Amino acid sequence: MSSVNPDLLKERSGVSFPNEELTLFIFGGPEETKKKRWLISLLDVNKNPVLKNEDKHFIPRDKYYIRSLEKMKKLFQIKKQHDIDGEDWNFLLLSTGEPMLPILHDVLFIPTLEGQMSHEQLEKWIPLAKDYAIFGCYAQTELGHGSNVRRLETTATYIHETDEFDIHSPTLTSTKWWPGGLARTSTHAVIFARLIIDGKDYGVHSFVVQLRGENHKPLPGIDVGDIGPKFGFNNIDNGFLRFTHVRIPRDQMCMKFSKVSRDGKYSTPSHAKVVYGTLVTARIYLVERSSFALAKALCIAIRYSLVRKQGNDTTNNHNESIVLDYQFLQYRLFNSLSIVYTLLFVGKWMKDLNEINEKKISEGDVSLMADIHSISSGLKALCTDLVMESLNDIILACGGHGYLRSSGIPSIVDDYAQSPIVEGDNTILQLQTGRYLIKAFENAKNGRPTPATLFYLKDYSRILSERSSATTWEELTDPNEQIKALTHYHTRILAKLISNLEESSKNHPQGYEGAKSDYMIDIINVSRAYCYTITITSANEGLESIKTTYSNIYPILRVLINLFFSNYIIKYSGEFLLDNYFNSNHIKIFELGIKNCLKTIRPDAIGLVDSWEFSDNMLNSALGRYDGNVYEALYNWAKLDPSNLAHEKGEYIGYNEVLKDIYSKEYLKGINRSKL
Ligand SMILES: Cc1cc2nc3c(=O)[nH]c(=O)nc-3n(C[C@H](O)[C@H](O)[C@H](O)COP(=O)(O)OP(=O)(O)OC[C@H]3O[C@@H](n4cnc5c(N)ncnc54)[C@H](O)[C@@H]3O)c2cc1C
Repeated sequence: MSSVNPDLLKERSGVSFPNEELTLFIFGGPEETKKKRWLISLLDVNKNPVLKNEDKHFIPRDKYYIRSLEKMKKLFQIKKQHDIDGEDWNFLLLSTGEPMLPILHDVLFIPTLEGQMSHEQLEKWIPLAKDYAIFGCYAQTELGHGSNVRRLETTATYIHETDEFDIHSPTLTSTKWWPGGLARTSTHAVIFARLIIDGKDYGVHSFVVQLRGENHKPLPGIDVGDIGPKFGFNNIDNGFLRFTHVRIPRDQMCMKFSKVSRDGKYSTPSHAKVVYGTLVTARIYLVERSSFALAKALCIAIRYSLVRKQGNDTTNNHNESIVLDYQFLQYRLFNSLSIVYTLLFVGKWMKDLNEINEKKISEGDVSLMADIHSISSGLKALCTDLVMESLNDIILACGGHGYLRSSGIPSIVDDYAQSPIVEGDNTILQLQTGRYLIKAFENAKNGRPTPATLFYLKDYSRILSERSSATTWEELTDPNEQIKALTHYHTRILAKLISNLEESSKNHPQGYEGAKSDYMIDIINVSRAYCYTITITSANEGLESIKTTYSNIYPILRVLINLFFSNYIIKYSGEFLLDNYFNSNHIKIFELGIKNCLKTIRPDAIGLVDSWEFSDNMLNSALGRYDGNVYEALYNWAKLDPSNLAHEKGEYIGYNEVLKDIYSKEYLKGINRSKL
C-alpha cells in the first residue's frame, strides 16, 4: 500500500472536529453508521473483484452493460446471503459507485406495484418481484409525450368476451421511449396506457405486461429494443417498446384505486393524486440522495485541490501555493460544500415528512397528500438544479486534470445530468408547486383554510410589512432571522404574482388561468423561493436539534448553513433591496461574512469530505484517492488505455490503418491540385 501524501496528512491533522462525529451525523447515528460501514465492507473489491470500477472508462458500451449485470448478480448473492432489503439495499447499490439496474426495479417498479395494486394482486406479484424471478421497469414516457402524461397514447382496451385488455401502440409517437432496464434486462413492465371501455376513454392507468418469455425472447406483438448511447447512464439499458394488440388478463390492470369489473364497470379512486404516488417516492429519493452525488464530486475536488500546487505562495517564495488556498477556488468549492450539508438536512426532513404522510394514508387520511406532492416536486427541482450547477463549478475547479475521465468527475456529472429531467422535468414540477402556492395564497387572502405547511400565509399582511432590523452578521444569520427574510421574500413575490395575474386576467381571453401562461417565469421563481425557504428552515431546525448531541460539528455546520443562506441573499440582493427588506449595509455585511466563512471552512475542508467515508473504488478517481498520490495514479491509469497496452506490444494504433499512407510522400504526391 502506498503511503499517504504528506500534504493530505498535514491537512487531516488540522481538522477542528473528530471525523467520527460527522460520519455519525451523515449516516444517521451510531447504529446506522455501524450498519452502513458493514454494508460498505461487503463491497470490498479484494474479496469481490467483479465490483471493481477501475477500467470502466476504457470498455465499450455492451461490455459495460454486461459488467453491470455481473455486478448485479454478485450483489443479489450478497443481498440473499445477508438478508439485505429496503433502505439498506438501496444504500448498498448506491455505494457501488455506479448506476445500478436493480434501482429501477426496486425504486420504481416494485413501489409502483405496491402503490397501485390491490391486496390480491400484490400477493401474486410482489414475491416474484422481490425474488427477481421477474425483473420490471417503469414504462410511462412515450416518444411523443413525457411531461404531459394525460396525452399518452398507448391504449388498453377492455375485451368483454375474453375478460382481457388489448394493449396497443396506435402511432409511432405512442412508442414507449426511455424506460430504464427495458431494452435488454426486463421481463415485465408496468406500463401507463389509456383505459378504453366500450369506446369510452377513462384516461391513463397502469398495467403489468410481460415482455419476454422463454430464453428471454420478446413475446408476440412486442417490439422492444435499445434507444442508443446517452449522455451518461450508459450501463443502463434505456429502451423503446411497441405493442401490436398484446392481450393481458383483466387482473393485470393495477387495481388498488381504479377498478374494472368483469362486466366492464369502471370505478374511480378517492384521490386522483394517489395514482402518481410512485413518482412522489422517486422524487423524495432524489431529494434525499442529492447531497450524496455532490459530496462524491467534492471529495475528489477537495482532496485534489489540497495536493495540487500552482502559482506563488506570497508568504514563502520557495514554495507554490496549495490551490485550495486561492480565495476563488474556495468560493467555488465551499459554496458547494454548503449545498451538500444544507441538502443533507432537507433530505432528512423530507423523508420524515413522507413517513408521517405514509402513516396517515395507511389510516385513510390523505390530508397531507397535496402538501407532499407539491413540496417533493419543488424540492426535487431545487435540489437537483443546485447539484447540477455545483457540479459545473467542480469541473472548473479541477483545471485540466478534472476533464480526464480518470478524474472520476465527468462520469459523476454524466450520470447525474438526468436527475433534473427524470421523475418529472424540473420546469413542470416547479410550475406545479407554483400553482399550488398561488391557490394557497388565494385561499389565505379570502379567509379560506390554507394547507398545513403554508399556515403562515394567513398572516401575509404582517409578513409583507416586515423589514430587517438586524445590524450585525450574527443577527443577520440568526436562524429566526434567516427564516424571516426568506418567508418575507417568497410571500412578497407570491403576492406580487397574484396581483399581476388578477390585473392581466381582466384583458386575457382565457381569464385568470390563461394569464398564468404569461407569468411562467414568475411562477417558477415563486416555487424556487418557497423551496429555498423550506430548505433553509429545515436545515436550521435540523441543526439546532443536534446542537448538544453533535456539539463538535455544530460550529462548522452552522458556518456552512450561514454560507448557503448568505449566498442566496447575495444572489437575489436586488430583490431584497427592492422593498428595503435589506439595505446596502446589510449586503456589505453579507459579502464580508461570506469571505469569513471561506476562511473558517478552509482548515476543515478535508474533514468535511473524508467523513463521508467514500471508498476509492466508489470514487473511481485518480484525483480523489484517499492517499492523495494523484500523479502516480494519473500516470498508471493512462497506462491502462488500450492504445498504450497495444503500444507496449509494438502495435501502433492508427499507423498501419491510416497514418502510414498520410506520412508516405507518395500519397500526397499523387494528389493533383487542379482536379480538386
Ligand atoms: C436517463 C433517463 C432515464 C429515464 N427513465 C425513464 C423511465 O424509467 N421510465 C419512464 O417512463 N421515463 C423515463 N425517462 C423519461 C423522463 O421521465 C422524461 O424524459 C421526462 O419526464 C421529461 O419528459 P420529456 O422528455 O417528454 O420532455 P418534454 O416534456 O418534451 O420537455 C421538453 C421541454 O419543454 C418544457 N415543457 C414541457 N411541457 C411544458 C409545460 N407544460 N410548460 C412549460 N414547459 C414545458 C420542458 O421543461 C422541457 O424543457 C427517462 C429519461 C432520462 C433522460
